[in-house]
Amino acid sequence: MSTRLKANLWWLRGRDRDVVVDASLGVVALRQAVPQLFERDPLVVLTHAHLDHVGGAYEFRERAAHAAAAETLADGVASSVYGAELCEKLGIVDPGEVVPGLLIRTLPHPDYDPQTYRVPPVALTHELQDGDKIELGGRTLTVLHLPGHTAGCIALLEEHTGVLYSGDIVYDGHLIDDLPESDVSSYRQSLDSWPGCWPAR
Ligand SMILES: [Zn+2]
Repeated sequence: MSTRLKANLWWLRGRDRDVVVDASLGVVALRQAVPQLFERDPLVVLTHAHLDHVGGAYEFRERAAHAAAAETLADGVASSVYGAELCEKLGIVDPGEVVPGLLIRTLPHPDYDPQTYRVPPVALTHELQDGDKIELGGRTLTVLHLPGHTAGCIALLEEHTGVLYSGDIVYDGHLIDDLPESDVSSYRQSLDSWPGCWPAR
């Protein structure tokens, strides 16, 4: 795990509807922080079932993820903003680095109690499979099932522009393939299946 939790989400605007890729950490309610995000009742697509991608998913009316992530999401993903507690919940015995006591740098307000942080269970309204198309009107996302980091990891490819929303499959930094739920050989197969997309290893 990285030393602090941080999260990205992408708000994709289409002619007919919006899609939000990932739902942030959930320390702050998205409807309060970014109310305009919800104006067109967007579909949230979760790249996988980890707290820093799922935290605000409960706020969306329509929620999609790969079928292999559905059970974990419904049960409630491992969630804590305390390093030791999160490692324990994720089944990490030796994190291999000093993990901070508190995994967020800033509290949303002075009275915020990090002990109250939990990611609510998420019931999917759409279960995705490899090759599915998500139509926004004028732009289309193709679902790529690329397991390894977790079994239910997906990336979203917008073929028209060549933009790949890769979740935790690939990014600029140390790739995480050593979680108890990770599968190194699946991860390698996933990377080999799209050799042009990734940096040289
Ligand atoms: Zn992850």
